[in-house]
Amino acid sequence: MLSTTARPWIEATLPVVLEHGEAITRHFYQRMLGQHPELKNLFNLSNQSQGEQAQALARAVYAYAAHMDKPLQISPVLDRIAHKHVSLGITPAQYTIVGRHLLASIGEVLGEAITADIAGAWDEAYWLMASDLIAREARLYQERHWSVGGAWPDLEVSALQASSEDTLTLTLRAPDGKPLPAFAPGQYLSVALPLPEMGLNQIRQYSLSNRPGEGVWRITVKRVRGEAGRGGEGVRPAGCVSTRLHEHIRVGDLLRVGPTAGDFQLRSGQQAVVMISAGVGITPMASMLQHIAHTQPERPLVFAYAASSPEHYPLREEVESTLARLPQARYQLWLEEKGSEQASAGALPGRMALDHPSLGAWPDDADFYLCGPMAFMQTQRRTLLAQGVDRSRIHYEVFGPDLFGDLQ
Ligand code: FAD
Repeated sequence: MLSTTARPWIEATLPVVLEHGEAITRHFYQRMLGQHPELKNLFNLSNQSQGEQAQALARAVYAYAAHMDKPLQISPVLDRIAHKHVSLGITPAQYTIVGRHLLASIGEVLGEAITADIAGAWDEAYWLMASDLIAREARLYQERHWSVGGAWPDLEVSALQASSEDTLTLTLRAPDGKPLPAFAPGQYLSVALPLPEMGLNQIRQYSLSNRPGEGVWRITVKRVRGEAGRGGEGVRPAGCVSTRLHEHIRVGDLLRVGPTAGDFQLRSGQQAVVMISAGVGITPMASMLQHIAHTQPERPLVFAYAASSPEHYPLREEVESTLARLPQARYQLWLEEKGSEQASAGALPGRMALDHPSLGAWPDDADFYLCGPMAFMQTQRRTLLAQGVDRSRIHYEVFGPDLFGDLQ
């Protein structure tokens, strides 16, 4: 709980700190990574260059300060952050470094407006949030028997398969043949890849696309292609990790992998499940679907999926053959490229529309799981809310920095 001395200072300065939130976090990343270049291995430098990481951190810290008195509201947000931190192997000691630079940046950006009292109040708020996160992360590490700060294991790529025109599915196993730990369907893992062109490692998350309990972990990676501007000038570079995985990884190679994590998890129980995904956002759904088929084939299920064309539908054969075996499953596919739906029986043309009559009424008491591009998820979530679905029933995964509040 924030002290009575600090509270008025936080309340008085929150608006100005919020106003300069992005400038502060940008300044912070430059300051911290300048003094601790080793941390570049930990932060996603592509998100840095686009400012998304700064936005995500700014929103988390300031949302925490603004909602400190509403623990129920802030708890799911902290859980999500704790899971991401665990997947990155964040240690308690790193909170000291972040705290020092963040507080210094607040002072340096806001200048003389920041008195010793105000700085002290923000220090207190930061450490309240940090201690809360450290405790949550300790529990997650313990559940995984993970040694905090230790070296990540190298897993062997035991199979590689092109799972659509632009995705590659990698199966990972322990080199000693021991089964890998189970995970919750919907969770992800981190891959740490050395990038010789950058002279450092980069970590990226990938949702597990197989079911838990198989003793192996499987991920399905979309190749992020670059886009050239006019006159051959590059406007968006190719994704560094996904490109390297697609171009260089072979069966038998070792990949450095962190712990499985993620609060986007299939709820246990008998209630109906509605999975709504697009593009490579199908990966956590594939895991949930396989898990349901294996453990609860009678569980009511609706599977709505959208792709640009049949060639861009990852894991299609596996997903459709599993759905065909499930007596309670309803399935609807949308294909956006004009005419591409004609070769797929039952597919609808264009973009997903959740009010399409083919889907029928939602099952009672269903939980809804969303994954896909942010704009896609915002559209589907709006439709669900307009249809009267309770917001607490809608769960989602973002394949990028979690811009807190973007789905609100
Ligand atoms: P990056 O190098 O990170 O580039 C990403 C984008 O930023 C590209 O479009 C690139 O052009 C652009 N960019 C980079 N630098 C600049 C710059 N200087 N200026 C302008 N633009 C720039 N992906 C999957 O394929 N499958 C999954 O199952 C999956 N699951 C995920 C689960 C979670 C929880 C999360 C957070 C992400 C998941 N992702 C998944 C996404 C994945 O982690 C990576 O973000 C993705 O593979 C791209 O990484 P990259 O290194 O190839 O691209």
